[in-house]
Amino acid sequence: MPIRPRVLFLYTGGTLGMLKRTVGPADAGSPFGIPLAPSHVAEDVLSYVRGLEEEVDVEGELLCNLDSSDMGPPHWARIGGAIAARIHRYDGFVVLHGTDTMAWTACALSYALRGLPKPVVLTGSQRPIAFVRTDARVNLVHSALCATMDVPEVGIYFGRWLFRGNRATKTSIQAYDAFESPDLPPLVEMGVEVLRRTPSRRPVGPFQPTFAFEEEVVVLDIVPGSAPRALQAVVSAGVRGVVLRAFGAGNVPQRGWPSAIQDAVASGVAVALHSQCLRGTVDLSAYEGGRAALDAGALPTGSMTLEAATVKLMFLLAQGLTGDALRAAYTEDLAGEGAAGDRSRSVEAGAL
Ligand code: ASP
Repeated sequence: MPIRPRVLFLYTGGTLGMLKRTVGPADAGSPFGIPLAPSHVAEDVLSYVRGLEEEVDVEGELLCNLDSSDMGPPHWARIGGAIAARIHRYDGFVVLHGTDTMAWTACALSYALRGLPKPVVLTGSQRPIAFVRTDARVNLVHSALCATMDVPEVGIYFGRWLFRGNRATKTSIQAYDAFESPDLPPLVEMGVEVLRRTPSRRPVGPFQPTFAFEEEVVVLDIVPGSAPRALQAVVSAGVRGVVLRAFGAGNVPQRGWPSAIQDAVASGVAVALHSQCLRGTVDLSAYEGGRAALDAGALPTGSMTLEAATVKLMFLLAQGLTGDALRAAYTEDLAGEGAAGDRSRSVEAGAL
């Protein structure tokens, strides 16, 4: 047999390895009838992709077996640590993960695995691998193939695309094409042919992983006409960072909000301004409501997804950055995430 690329599957959980719970109350509202829960399938996932070993030398490791809603920074660090410890042993890595927070984990890994020299592909499925109409098998096989390609970055493979992980977001609860990359075309499209759509990043500098994330960061949506009481409440509660989902280009209501942002920043809380729009670039100089927030000390989020903007704040705060150093790092490109200072960031840049 010719030498095959070596790929490590790291199992963390998600629908892919779930089964219907055999005990517990039936849920008539679920399309599966009985709620899905993590199962023993996790220990045997490779047996569902027989034939893959002809193309790829696959090994598997079980890191945890959770619904991804129960995952967070300690799990991100665990997955990143497992990859970093084995980086020289494999040509690529596939992380099997629940879809609900897959984009969050992808962002965390993209920042933490600085200088990553090999592909790391997160994937999962909408239907369990043990179900006949599953989407898991094709996602797994294509992810393994993507992990052997020259794509040295953290990606999400789902449906038929490999996306840059920190540009992707889950946009559908039920569709097999569950993820989109709102402001960056996919890296790879899998059909009868394998098509490279967007050039992938190259590692900048040596591989230097760092696994710390500030957990006291919250996301707040602004409701039209609302007073900034929720912002004041979380600041009083002791958070270290807030991602505000404002309107359009990043506009906040001018009554009360700019001064509340200023007070938050003055008390040492980082405030990043995101948008309730899915696509496009936050531009805090486009309207007075955005300008006032910028003058009050808000950090622009460029065309980062909500996940990328939030996890980046968690990552930089954990490094002890504040004030101008935090602003410089937050607006600088770290891992192709679409930071405000990254001019190549958006397909819609300059639209206004
Ligand atoms: N609740 C599941 C999870 O995120 C959903 C999925 O995997 O599709 O673990």
